[in-house]
Order: sequence, then C-alpha cells, then structure tokens
Amino acid sequence: MDRQQEFVLRTLEERDIRFVRLWFTDVLGFLKSVAVAPAELEGAFAEGIGFDGSAIEGFARVYESDMVAKPDPATFQVLPWETADGQLYSARMFCDITMPDGSPCWSDPRHVLRRTLSKASEAGFTCYVHPEIEFFLLSKLTNDGTEPEPADNGGYFDQASHDTAPHFRRHAIEALEAMGISVEFSHHEGAPGQQEIDLRYADALTMADNVMTFRYVVKEVAIKDGVRASFMPKPFSDQPGSGMHTHVSLFEGDRNAFYDSEDPYELSGTGKAFVAGLLKHAREISAVTNQWVNSYKRLIVGGEAPTAVCWGHANRSALVRVPMYSPGKASSRRVEIRSIDSACNPYLAYAVVLAAGLKGVREGYELAPPTEDDVWSLTETERRAAGYDSLPQNLTEALTAMENSELLAETLGEGVFDYFLRNKRAEWDAYRRQVTPYELRTYLPML
Ligand code: GLU
Ligand code: MG
Ligand code: MG
Repeated sequence: MDRQQEFVLRTLEERDIRFVRLWFTDVLGFLKSVAVAPAELEGAFAEGIGFDGSAIEGFARVYESDMVAKPDPATFQVLPWETADGQLYSARMFCDITMPDGSPCWSDPRHVLRRTLSKASEAGFTCYVHPEIEFFLLSKLTNDGTEPEPADNGGYFDQASHDTAPHFRRHAIEALEAMGISVEFSHHEGAPGQQEIDLRYADALTMADNVMTFRYVVKEVAIKDGVRASFMPKPFSDQPGSGMHTHVSLFEGDRNAFYDSEDPYELSGTGKAFVAGLLKHAREISAVTNQWVNSYKRLIVGGEAPTAVCWGHANRSALVRVPMYSPGKASSRRVEIRSIDSACNPYLAYAVVLAAGLKGVREGYELAPPTEDDVWSLTETERRAAGYDSLPQNLTEALTAMENSELLAETLGEGVFDYFLRNKRAEWDAYRRQVTPYELRTYLPML
C-alpha cells in the first residue's frame, strides 16, 4: 500500500467516516457513485470494485459488462455535510475505470483526458486550466415546460444583502474550499438568479474532477439554502445563458510557454499556434463543448456568448480571448475559450480543446490577425466576407462537423466517438419532432 492510500485509511478511522463514495463520470458527464464501507477500502485499493458497466449509459457493450472502479487516493476528500450530531460522516474519491484485465476502460472520460494529457506531456507540456462557471439559482426546478422563476432579481456584480444569492455563494465557497477546491472570484452574473464562481487554476485532470465536484456541491448547497441550482445552458429565452469560459495555459517546466514579453499580446509562437488550433477545429469540437440541443440557444448574438470563430483581446464576441489583466506577468499569460458551457462533460471538453490547441502547436498552424470589432453586429454574409467562420447554429450541424473529424475520433477513441454521435443524433431527432409553443403561437393564427 502506498502512502496516499495509508493516509486515506488513517483519516477514515480518525474521523470516524462511515461511507466512502467512489465517484466516476459517464460519457455525457453525469456523476456516478457507489458507496463502500471503510472496511472494504483496503481491498478496493488492491483490486478495485467490480460493477456492471453495461448498466451505465455508453459505458460498455453487453459482452464486456464487467468493469472495475479503482479509487484514486490523491482525490480523497471528506464531504463537508454534517449529520444531526455535527459529525462529518462521508468522503469521496474519484475512480479510474478498468477492464478486468487491468487495462484502462475505453469509455471512461477520465481515461480519455489522461490520454490527451500524456500526449501533451510527451511534447513537454503541462496543461493548466481555470473555468469561470456560470449557473442559475431558481426558486424551484420545474419540469412541466414552464419558464422557471429566478431566485433573485440581481444583475451583473450586484451586491444585494437581503436575498439568497450572496449567502448562497458564501456557503458554496466554504463547502468547496473545505474540499480543497480554491475559488478565485464569485459574483452575481447578468441575468436574474444567475451566478458565477471562478476556480483557481489547476492541472486539467484535477480541474475536470473539480468541475464535477463543483456541480454536486452547488446543487447540494442550493437545496440547503432553500433554492435550486441549474447548469442548463440557456433556461430563459430573453436572458443570457450560462457559459463555462475556460482559461488555458501550457507550461514547460516552470516556464509559461504562452508568454512572450516582446509580442503586443504577450503571446508566444506556441500560444499563437495553440489559438490557431482552437479556431481551426472549433466547429469539430463544438458537439463536445456544447453537447445539448439547448446549448445552441445560448450561442446567439448578444448575451456575451461567442458566435464567430475568431480571436481578440477585449472582444467578448470572439470565440477566443487573450485577456490582458496583468501585463508583464509571465505566469498568468493564458487564453480564454468562451464557447464551452456549464453542462458539458468537463473531461471530454478539456480533452478536445487541448487536442485542438496542441495540434495547432505540433503542426505550426498560422494564426489569423485578431478581430477587435464587434462581430455580433455583422451579418452572416459580412462575416464570411471578412473571413470568419460561424460556430454551428444547432446540435445537428455540430454533429455533422464532428462526424467528419479525425481529430475527434482520435481524441475520444472510436468507442466514445461512435456512442456519442449515436446518442446525440437520437437527442436531435427527439427534439426535431416536437411542435413547440413558439410555432403554435406564431403559425396557427397566421397560416
Ligand atoms: N453568460 C455569458 C455566456 O454565456 C458570458 C458573460 C461573461 O462575459 O462573463 O458566455
Ligand atoms: Mg461571466
Ligand atoms: Mg470570461
């Protein structure tokens, strides 16, 4: 047993923890959990916990249903919820999923991301990311198709002391920090009920784990505060949606490979080629970074979400931004990709974003000049004339772009690639059959 595993077993005993939740994530980004008694953990470290992979959507073909969850002791954290007597009683660890022979499971999103990160590390890079996570607080979750009611009436940066939001953000941050997840900023976002919490940077695998924990914690804390949280990309037709803008940098040892003090954007050749990769493959990676029918309702003109494939510096209509908050500070040179939404599978989204950028670096892609004008105000034709591609306007367009992408097949692996396309085609078909209230309102009286 290694030292981390010993630490886990000692902590369980010292803190009298009754349940250890072993967490992993399915292909669409839903958190899965199996609780084990502390006495079972020594065995779980040695051999893993067996489960029926075919019962998890997208995880296995029926003939290979036996799978094994191996807890990663580096991710051990006590859950900051209390029982009635004030005792903390459960903890969690993320798992890597393997086949019974010990080989990594092709459908485990953690494995997909690890594979991309090991390619980055072969090229000498460590990938750091930090997300700005937006979501809504609602007074309750409705499922009858009516528009939900936001839990507050605030706007961008509002400090309203009398409503739920500021207390909620404090409670959520306390819970996240108790689980070792550092928060950098938090504030009310633009729409009523909309919040943003920005996490401090970490390596991409740790951050994907953190995003999964974040969603779980935020939903739990919301319930405790008498409201509900939703990461749906666009719950309100007339308000901005919830993005998960993600800042990325590559380090070579201690040196930020994106920094160059001589460049007007302080962006090195590596940084430029990385951005060029993000732009060139933007349409192919969309189905993964924006995986729901609803995701594309957010990517419209206005609401500060990107629609055009271009980059800039202060330009919030661009897909990629090179923020200049701290000029001259090499360690914080990074690029921000603004398409990703809060309802993605963070492992797969980070894998495809990094694979696109790294391909740009590997193949020395040329970066087009920046766009500092407001691309939202251009028509589709004007945009094309100016040389910008548009992001896909709906899920089916994104799936078509993905289907033809070697980069995506290679990054996700054939099994995840095929399952994802099949599952998402079915989602689009189910949606396409619907006659919506909008159509009835508009066409029935008119036609
Ligand atoms: N909510 C906007 C989006 O959907 C982003 C607002 C901002 O710039 O933080 O991407
Ligand atoms: Mg924001
Ligand atoms: Mg941002």
